Amino acid sequence: MNKNYTSTRNDSVSISAKEAIKKGFADDKGLFVYPDLGNDQLDLEKILTLDYKNIAKTVLAKLLPDFSKGEINDSVDNAYSSSFDSDKITPVAAVDNFHILELFHGPTSAFKDVGLQLLPQLMKHVLTDDNKVMILTATSGDTGKAALEGFKDLKNMGIIVFYPDGGVSKIQKLQMITTGGNNTKVAAIKGNFDDAQTNVKLIFNDKTLKEQLGSTVSLSSANSINIGRLIPQVVYYFDSYKQLVEDGTIKTGNKVNFTVPTGNFGDVLAGYYAKLLGLPVNKFVVACNENNVLATFFEHGIYDRNRPFFQTIAPSMDIQISSNFERLLYYKSGENSQYVKQLMDDLENNGKYEVSKDVLKAIQEDFYCGYSTDKEIEESIKEVYEKDGYLMDPHTAAGYKVMRDYQKLDDTPMILLSTASPYKFVNAVATAVLPEEANSDNVLQTMKDLAAKTNAPIPENLQKVWDLPVRHESVIQKSDMEKYVKEQVEAVFYDKDQSSSN
Ligand SMILES: *Cc1c(COP(=O)(O)O)cnc(C)c1O
Repeated sequence: MNKNYTSTRNDSVSISAKEAIKKGFADDKGLFVYPDLGNDQLDLEKILTLDYKNIAKTVLAKLLPDFSKGEINDSVDNAYSSSFDSDKITPVAAVDNFHILELFHGPTSAFKDVGLQLLPQLMKHVLTDDNKVMILTATSGDTGKAALEGFKDLKNMGIIVFYPDGGVSKIQKLQMITTGGNNTKVAAIKGNFDDAQTNVKLIFNDKTLKEQLGSTVSLSSANSINIGRLIPQVVYYFDSYKQLVEDGTIKTGNKVNFTVPTGNFGDVLAGYYAKLLGLPVNKFVVACNENNVLATFFEHGIYDRNRPFFQTIAPSMDIQISSNFERLLYYKSGENSQYVKQLMDDLENNGKYEVSKDVLKAIQEDFYCGYSTDKEIEESIKEVYEKDGYLMDPHTAAGYKVMRDYQKLDDTPMILLSTASPYKFVNAVATAVLPEEANSDNVLQTMKDLAAKTNAPIPENLQKVWDLPVRHESVIQKSDMEKYVKEQVEAVFYDKDQSSSN
């Protein structure tokens, strides 16, 4: 098997996994992919005898071949030994006639912890002694805090998170502005998420800034297109399958289905990687919210982002361009990078592209796609709580309804991925199950009311966050973001005394 990664848009690119993690994405703006993924599968029987961390080590050894065994062991052990509140890391709960894979037991109560606890540990082994890296992240809520926790206090690394002032939930804001550590920086910007994102991209591409930072400090991103964040997510597909074998739901070799609430298509793509690596999966059920550009694509093969943008009660799925879908197009077009480049050029120039019938058919063989409206999300939360006593967050609930639609066609055992704790999006959940008490002004009280009624425990990090001191109060103009980056590079890497301020 080829040991190097290539670009989805140019298959003459050849780059090691370490370089791919350091760079994030290719110079041609394509994403790094492993050609021939699946020619050399994992030994399923053997995987089923392993615990989570050892499955992780096995998957990483396959997909990150230039990391040494010691580097992989060190990274996995650091990422998962003490930061999750479940020994299983991602436990599976049986509910009615399906299973829920709980991905929210990490330090920030969202599934992004699974990738963002491991990525920084891998990054550590990518940097040589005189390298320093500053991570820049624009966040609409969940990624920022998960990235801050992952990179906190790591040597030679710093992280700056920009979030839109007034554009994240009260809990998400509190989580970010109370972050500890000497290398973490957070600023609200006067603008929306797109402004933050656009300016971060401009800063990455600013050659003058690059020169000013010199050869020791480089900028990098913790975005979900980084293979160092994607590959850790392959692990829980294998591990959840193992849990179903252990509880007797399936026998080794039986197929299962997965339902995945989707935004940037990273989570569900990791599932497809698991299938290519030998996991017996029949279908991936992809669930969107009202931003359903993917659901429309699955009907006609036309991806068209020229459409209204909705702010929904499942905000982490409010996305119009699912970046990681590009990787699926690469595999489903027979690894045709020229074809993918043409599609992505069409998307950039016209806001849309159309795939061939063959490619659409190949995608539909493995994937089914649907969506939930906000009203359906609330109804699902209420239904599953009242019928089964299980409390879902709105993203998980967006998946639930699409899962139920699909189950009318196929009764293969089903695993629904739960991507956040219900307490992280407590207002939407409370509105669904205790409408009288839901109160967006007193979020802590709403959490307590919800816990009292449902007996679902509040995760420790979400309970503690109300008492932590605020450490990050900066609110800046979007035009000052670059200046802020320069100042924080100085503060984090060259002036330790100043680094605890701001
Ligand atoms: C990021 C996120 C998603 C979407 O995951 P993708 O990998 O972007 O498809 C779904 N739910 C929650 C809670 C998230 O934070």
